[in-house]
Amino acid sequence: MISKSIKATLICSIVLFSSCKEETKNPEQIMSDNILIQEWTGPYKGVPAFDKVSVEAIKPAMEEAMKINLAEIDKIANNLEPATFENTIVAMESAGKELSRVFTYYGIMGSNVSSPEFRAVQAELAPKLSDFRSEISQNEKLFQRIKTVYEASQETPLEPQAQRVVDLTYKQFEMNGANLNAEKKKRYAEINKELSTLYTDFANNVLHDEENYITYLTEDQLGGLADGFIKSAAKIATDKQEDGKYAITNSRSSMDPFLTYSTERKLRKQVWENYYSRGDNGDDYDNNKIIAKILQLRKERVGLMGYDNYAEWRLQDRMAKTPEKAMDLMMAVWPAATARVKEEVADMQTVANELGDNITIEPWDYRYYAEKVRKKKYDLDSDEVKQYLQLDKLTEAMFFTAGELFNYKFTPVAEGSVPVFHEDVKVWEVTDKDSSKHIGLWYLDPFARQGKRSGAWATTYRSSDSFEGEKNVLASNNSNFVKPAPGEAVLVSWDDATTFFHEFGHALHFFSADVKYPTLNGGVRDYTEFQSQLLERWLSTDKVINQFLVHYKTGEPIPAALVEKIKNASTFNQGFGTTEYLASALIDMKLHLADPTDIDIDKFERETLDELGMPKELPMRHRTPQFGHVFSGEGYATAYYGYMWADVLTSDASEAFKESEGGFYDKTVADKLVKYLFAPRNAMDPAEAYRKFRGRDAKIEALMKDRGFPVPETK
Ligand SMILES: [Zn+2]
Repeated sequence: MISKSIKATLICSIVLFSSCKEETKNPEQIMSDNILIQEWTGPYKGVPAFDKVSVEAIKPAMEEAMKINLAEIDKIANNLEPATFENTIVAMESAGKELSRVFTYYGIMGSNVSSPEFRAVQAELAPKLSDFRSEISQNEKLFQRIKTVYEASQETPLEPQAQRVVDLTYKQFEMNGANLNAEKKKRYAEINKELSTLYTDFANNVLHDEENYITYLTEDQLGGLADGFIKSAAKIATDKQEDGKYAITNSRSSMDPFLTYSTERKLRKQVWENYYSRGDNGDDYDNNKIIAKILQLRKERVGLMGYDNYAEWRLQDRMAKTPEKAMDLMMAVWPAATARVKEEVADMQTVANELGDNITIEPWDYRYYAEKVRKKKYDLDSDEVKQYLQLDKLTEAMFFTAGELFNYKFTPVAEGSVPVFHEDVKVWEVTDKDSSKHIGLWYLDPFARQGKRSGAWATTYRSSDSFEGEKNVLASNNSNFVKPAPGEAVLVSWDDATTFFHEFGHALHFFSADVKYPTLNGGVRDYTEFQSQLLERWLSTDKVINQFLVHYKTGEPIPAALVEKIKNASTFNQGFGTTEYLASALIDMKLHLADPTDIDIDKFERETLDELGMPKELPMRHRTPQFGHVFSGEGYATAYYGYMWADVLTSDASEAFKESEGGFYDKTVADKLVKYLFAPRNAMDPAEAYRKFRGRDAKIEALMKDRGFPVPETK
């Protein structure tokens, strides 16, 4: 469950004012004829000109669009009229359309059709974009106007959506130091600059250790490994001038299958040690001192604004609100997770003893013996499951689900009528089933290719808002399935089918948005994976199973016994999964609550894990010196708990369906789902939205049950 959520999801990651906005141009502002800046034309209220994209056009387009946006901001900041909601906040919401259009193409070039030429442009633009953002967030005149509107709204509140956008805008500026005096602002900027270098150093050190610790195997050391894995290991070795050997690289995708299947215990230990020592080898690429410095600077920076610690500052606009609440959740699950590890280790020890292996389970044995326990206990053959999971049928299943819950209908768009950036991309029109009202377009880019990033993600080219007239939504899903020979079915694993539904959940969250202002489309980090995780649950509903999970040759529905096995196996190894995740999330939070003066990172990690009672048979999912989520940027600093936070909501919301008369297809619950959990996006406080859906706050019990942990007694 966690690993699924961790698969990166790109939901317009651009900060400040360039967030997924589009529509009517301001004629005098169009200064160039660069196609990437121009307003979208064609059917469906205008669509991106993906057929005219070129790498050469991107840099001038981006520079031009930034200039236009800065001119707009300047005009707002220097307005001689007193600041009002209309001439300040609404004007800011309306600005940045050119930039948003350029970012649509920039995102496609970066994620779907990248090239060395594009990456060079990207490297050139990154610092310019960073300066551009600082120029806006440090614009004193602009902030004073925002503050005036904000303060007036505290006396005389605006209508709810207007009030929310004022609150969010003010908060964002305030949290980024806009309220500081000139001297403190200067220090604030210095700290940020120093941090940005430390983040890059941190990431490069991890990358160095990933590239430079390769384990080469000889022919007689391949025991247990699958043919496909061996072939790719041989190819990597050849590419590295080690012909005739087999390379195990120092990455998760290489380490994980090797530790799961290799019969060579000594080599498992070596591969394990290489992987979990990244950034921690006591050499020039060691990250421990960098982390200490990052923590000190973060604390100093939030201290300028009067906060005690970084966690307190970071969580104020998240659903959890305070570090204490995030800690409470983690510590409520932790004992059950570590207790389950003990049981898993005992099961594995039994298997090892039965095999006569004469060992005690160590961290490099966990995956290997867990796999043996899985086969013995659950007897689940993943190849058999795959034969019932065809990509086309799964797509139909998602459309069916969207029809039942959201009343949507998906109709293929005639090929060639909407421009696409690759021939594999297919487009559907989304309409309301009853009224036939047009809602938007859904782009699907299903297959892996050179230049496409790995994993699966969802994004929008145009989001819904209504303050300048109603808009249609252009949303996309992107995956990396292997492209079949013409006419062959694409068969996928259960995990991949789940992820396919997950990303479609993000798309439905975009389509169903009913917000007035673009800012209200934004995501809240510990809430935004909830809607997508929830949609995963429809894959295993009876209606989907019986209609769409059919054998690719015989057309027979998947046997009930096989479904039962899949469901039984869903709680397998949850001790390992939950504990390795929680250990990282707890260390993330505790590091940012601690006093970082003279902190010894290695010692802190060791002692904290000891205090927590971390089982010795497994490590943190990301050890501190390699925890890129937290130290190669700020994206997930004191936010790694968010995956579990969202999963509590997911499990609890699923119960609402299970308890209802119509189960997962209950109309009343589905209506509430759309109305409160999807449509408001960030127009409503997430906690309040959830309460409106459920009639109460989420409880932890359902999550414990879903993970196969004992359910705590309710008082
Ligand atoms: Zn996601």
